[in-house]
Amino acid sequence: MKNLTLIEDVWTIDREHVDVLIEDQVIKEIVPHKTGTQVNKPSQLKLIQGQEGLLSAPFVDAHFHLDATLSLGRPRLNESGTLFEGIQIWAEQKPLLSEEDVYERAKTLIHWAIARGTLAMRTHVDIGDPQLKAVRALLKLREEIKSFFDLQIVAFPQDGYLRQANAKALLNEALDLGVDVVGGIPHFERSTRAGQESIEQLCRIAADRGLRVDMHCDETDDPQSRHIEALAEQTIRFGLQNRVTASHVTSLHSAPNDFAAKLMPLLVEAQVHIVANPLINITLQGRRDSYPRRRGMTRVDELMASGVNVAFGHDCVMDPWYALGSADLLEVAHMGLHVGQLTSLAGMEACYQAVTQNPAFALGLKTPSAKGFAVGDRADLVLLDAANPIEAIRLRANRRMVMSRGQVLAETPSVKTQLNLPNQEQLTVDFRL
Ligand SMILES: [Zn+2]
Repeated sequence: MKNLTLIEDVWTIDREHVDVLIEDQVIKEIVPHKTGTQVNKPSQLKLIQGQEGLLSAPFVDAHFHLDATLSLGRPRLNESGTLFEGIQIWAEQKPLLSEEDVYERAKTLIHWAIARGTLAMRTHVDIGDPQLKAVRALLKLREEIKSFFDLQIVAFPQDGYLRQANAKALLNEALDLGVDVVGGIPHFERSTRAGQESIEQLCRIAADRGLRVDMHCDETDDPQSRHIEALAEQTIRFGLQNRVTASHVTSLHSAPNDFAAKLMPLLVEAQVHIVANPLINITLQGRRDSYPRRRGMTRVDELMASGVNVAFGHDCVMDPWYALGSADLLEVAHMGLHVGQLTSLAGMEACYQAVTQNPAFALGLKTPSAKGFAVGDRADLVLLDAANPIEAIRLRANRRMVMSRGQVLAETPSVKTQLNLPNQEQLTVDFRL
């Protein structure tokens, strides 16, 4: 007998009021609310009352570092708040890592992410350790959770693909072990020339192996750092269109407008995906400025307007680069909206897309659709205590239910605050108007 679940009385991101029928792991019907479905055996039906919540595609984290997460303070805190002190602290921590330690921290973070409605993530893993302990830990985790969570792993040469002596061999070994995506960090190589050389070599590896590419690219305030241009060029050269992501690209914030204007059509031609990491970009960048102090996040509005697929990633939670976070992509969207001044209605909705559909597209999981989900899709859904995406961002709305492949993985009851004001009747506060 088939398992049928009806989620009724919910809003979609394109403002339709619907009921959604799920058969086993798949979305079977989406119908206007209360018009009735083709279900004729109510007794076998599991009913989920949506209570006019927002039913959404799940959140997808386009950029994360599971090997470093939840290691805050090991062996010390980042006093300068810079990317480079973070890399130094991570280098001090690396020799102390065990496979078990990485696995346990990463698993805890995945639990947090699921509770927040995230069902897919691309994590970078540092391949600099000769024993590849972190790689092995994350491959084990990916296998264990694959029936309900899409984890993509990027082979990330944190200390430089050409700069670290044995990085070439280690990166290839990681890919042989089953790591999904080829990473890179051209702005951290010894020179611009070496950065460009690393891009060429890494794109060649991806093309030869039939893999995707996701590089940390131009994560600096230096307006002269323009590896993004070389990455787009090599993407086209190796026929990797739509398979390459450039993460951060913070230098574009500071680059001259003339360079940006030339770059945008090239990114569209190469179908390069861009991932901004608002929480991290706003805290790590601009550290050498006095005032005025730059925001550091890449040109999200201009990129989107040009037709580039832009996603937001969380990047870090409680690690050498960032002391805060709770794996909440609505917090990421909230920050991205503010830093990018994406305050128009379309801009705010675009911020929601940047943590749902756009990253799914960048990861090659799914092509964006108006509702975020469609009949025939796998039943991966999140039910939020919000009427629409903007309210979801405004409230960082409670994720009442998180469903993967038709199974409810997480439930968080709605919380109501009771007010007891002097000389007034007791009130319940509802932040939804
Ligand atoms: Zn990163």
